[in-house]
Amino acid sequence: MKILRLILGDQLNIKHSWFNDVDPNVTYLMAEMRQETDYVTHHIQKVVAFFQSMREFSEDLKEKGHQVSYLNINDSDNPQALDKIIQHHIELVNADKFEYQWPDEYRLDRQLLAICQELSIASEAYDSEHFYTTRYELKDFFDGKKQLIMESFYRMMRKKHDIMMVNGQPDGGKWNFDQSNRKKWKGEPKIPHERGFRKNVSALVDEINASGIKTIGTITADNFSWPTSRADALSVLNYFCKNLLIHFGDYQDALHTDEYYLFHSRLSFAMNSKMISPKEVIDKVLEHYYDHSDQIHISQVEGFVRQILGWREYMRGIYWKEMPQYKKKNELDNHNKLPEFFWTGETKMNCLHHAIKQSLETSYAHHIQRLMITGNYALLTQTHPDEVDAWYLGIYIDAIEWVEITNTRGMSQFADGGIVATKPYVSSANYINKMSNYCSDCQYSHTKKIGEDACPFNALYWNFLDEKKEHFKNNQRMGMMLNLLGKKDKKELEQLKERSRKIIEHPEEF
Ligand code: FAD
Ligand code: SF4
Repeated sequence: MKILRLILGDQLNIKHSWFNDVDPNVTYLMAEMRQETDYVTHHIQKVVAFFQSMREFSEDLKEKGHQVSYLNINDSDNPQALDKIIQHHIELVNADKFEYQWPDEYRLDRQLLAICQELSIASEAYDSEHFYTTRYELKDFFDGKKQLIMESFYRMMRKKHDIMMVNGQPDGGKWNFDQSNRKKWKGEPKIPHERGFRKNVSALVDEINASGIKTIGTITADNFSWPTSRADALSVLNYFCKNLLIHFGDYQDALHTDEYYLFHSRLSFAMNSKMISPKEVIDKVLEHYYDHSDQIHISQVEGFVRQILGWREYMRGIYWKEMPQYKKKNELDNHNKLPEFFWTGETKMNCLHHAIKQSLETSYAHHIQRLMITGNYALLTQTHPDEVDAWYLGIYIDAIEWVEITNTRGMSQFADGGIVATKPYVSSANYINKMSNYCSDCQYSHTKKIGEDACPFNALYWNFLDEKKEHFKNNQRMGMMLNLLGKKDKKELEQLKERSRKIIEHPEEF
């Protein structure tokens, strides 16, 4: 029986059981497609990273003896749409059966189901063999419970997979070391240079430009440094364990103008494209930790494990539990547009300037830059979540809808009304100044609330609370903030609201 097997761009899992045997009757189909490059405007480095990784993966398969049919973006016989590509290849290889791995995106999942219904041959879908959890494990875990809580999901995962457990209890005596994970970085400890690759991808960039794909951001010989193969990904992981893990937890929330990556792993693209699995990452990190537990404190490691075993799997579970209605949620009824400076970084607000400039330059920002700088600003200015989603989905190297939308619409914009987060992540300049050096070099004063040189975040913060107070009146976690709002001098609040109106209406002036 002849089989055609589809491999999507984020299914580069060479450890998948599909590849255990080489079978001349199986043809693997991979395709660079406009349907995937055009549903949002992506960062040039993101398009390059996916195409380059796909090409390296297909070469790897061929070297191992598998049959691969690969369509480049500019191939004259590339129909650019998935249904046509599959149909064409079924005829080409005379396939009796079509097989694919479950996609992680709802959009592609439905498209493939529809395509298979139209086929005249049999079809079958397989697990992608990447995640710890199945698609609906979180849904089943929370079945009948009133609220979803990441912490209870995370503890279940630690126990179920026996990760950092000693005699049924959490290693180190605590589940959570968050309290010790909140240090500002002040130039020490020194941050090792990132594990970069600096591959020459200029020919691929030329191909992408020639294809007419619209992109954002920049790429140069020395700012493309993403892993594009499994070997690269393993090397980034090793580098992280040896050089960065030791301070990961302490500085995971820190922000700095000169340091883009601090002690973050930069593994999200490698994991989201499935070049390495979350289990491999966690196993390696724990192996390194247990070999060096005299030097590395458990809090650094638990913080990292929580992100992958906890948040990453949690977001995926929420996505499959809540889609497709999740994509339409706008519970705070926000309708403003994102300002132009999100595509240039040209703003006097130093924190936004740095976070956006860095994102355009590298296609990367770490969690707190995404949540407490750009996300915070978008929420405080009451931006429509569709606008915010499109920006995040386009700009970041690791942005795939299942993990982007739950973080953006859910955690960052509170547009899901509290499914992911129990309260909105909003702050005035106080938090930004506490965690970064952005404010010390800013035209605005982080301590001032009123006046031309007052930090815009301060006015926006109080205005947001005031405008959304009805929505949050029954949210216990908002009690203290709303209490302080209630005590605000009426005249001062009016001045703050007036300034806030100007910022929202004329963002380019700030
Ligand atoms: P590290 O800080 O080194 O963390 C290690 C790993 O933990 C990451 O590689 C990632 O796989 C996982 N992780 C950490 N936080 C989260 C989280 N909140 N949700 C899921 N996994 C997490 N992550 C994406 O992978 N794709 C996205 O599109 C994405 N969009 C985001 C949008 C917003 C508004 C916010 C606030 C966060 C978003 N995140 C997203 C989560 C997080 O910012 C990135 O995973 C992280 O910055 C990637 O960098 P890193 O690999 O250096 O992570
Ligand atoms: Fe950002 Fe305000 Fe600080 Fe400037 S003062 S960096 S605008 S928080």
